[in-house]
Amino acid sequence: MSELQFPPGAAFIDGGFAKIEDAKISVLDWGFLRSDATYDVVHVWKGRFFRLDAHLDRFLSSAEKLRMKLPYDRAQIAEILAELVERTGFEDAYVEMIVTRGVSPTFSRDPRDAINRFIAFAIPFGWILRPEEREEGLALAVSEIPRIPPESVDPTVKNYHWLDLVMGMFDAYEQGARTCILTDGQGNITEGPGFNVFVVKDGKVATPMRGVLHGITRQASILLLQELQVPVSARPVSLHELREADEVFATSTAGGVMPVTKIGAHIVAGGKPGPITGRLIEAYWAAHTRDDGWSVAVKDVARGNLRG
Ligand code: PLP
Repeated sequence: MSELQFPPGAAFIDGGFAKIEDAKISVLDWGFLRSDATYDVVHVWKGRFFRLDAHLDRFLSSAEKLRMKLPYDRAQIAEILAELVERTGFEDAYVEMIVTRGVSPTFSRDPRDAINRFIAFAIPFGWILRPEEREEGLALAVSEIPRIPPESVDPTVKNYHWLDLVMGMFDAYEQGARTCILTDGQGNITEGPGFNVFVVKDGKVATPMRGVLHGITRQASILLLQELQVPVSARPVSLHELREADEVFATSTAGGVMPVTKIGAHIVAGGKPGPITGRLIEAYWAAHTRDDGWSVAVKDVARGNLRG
């Protein structure tokens, strides 16, 4: 077996800091056995967390909805994340926080007996689409597999129920696409593996309202589009609208705002990033240096100052 190549990074597990390669959980943890976990990913860009407050809000609310108890409060979690980044020395980082159901001391089947486990780590910034690939954009395949219905698993709780998305990726690779988008099985689009999707038609922007994670990049994009005075709404978006759109873009903490230039065999916007997408990309990266609550220096958070 070839040696596993770990990315450089730092981890926090079972109450202490650890090397990323030493951060391990029990095979009996329900996070592993049943995907019984929630997580969040915030990024650091040029030494500043982006939208840290929003990520912490979502993480705490996800844990509560899953009836999990975090061993740390919001301020302590923020300090752990900042210390992780400081330990790596990274200026740009991908920072993940996780709470798993954990293990029941008697291995009973009752989830109330489990001791929830908090884990966090910082690794190098990860891109779904690299900046140098933006001109080319993302090629999406529309998956035949519908996204898990929101009535079954609440998609606003960030979760690891990814088998629909992962199988969709395999199908996409076979079709020569880079990644996939799933529908709700009723003709509306939902989301893809790690990203939300927006369509632009006649200068108006829309993104699915239901059956999706309320992505922090999605929320940031809505706010930035409003600042740019571009009309934007969250509403049902049909597959037909996706195919007829003037522009399509995807949003994720792992890469920001990403132009979609191909859907199946259909070329979007002449195969180039469209003008509204371009303006939003600019506004999104400019917002990383804003200190009006949009971003905060890692060193300030490490000193207990969440607002910079
Ligand atoms: N949708 C899913 C299923 C995701 O897993 C993610 C992020 O990992 C997103 C959307 C984008 O969310 P965010 O902008 O908060 O990164």
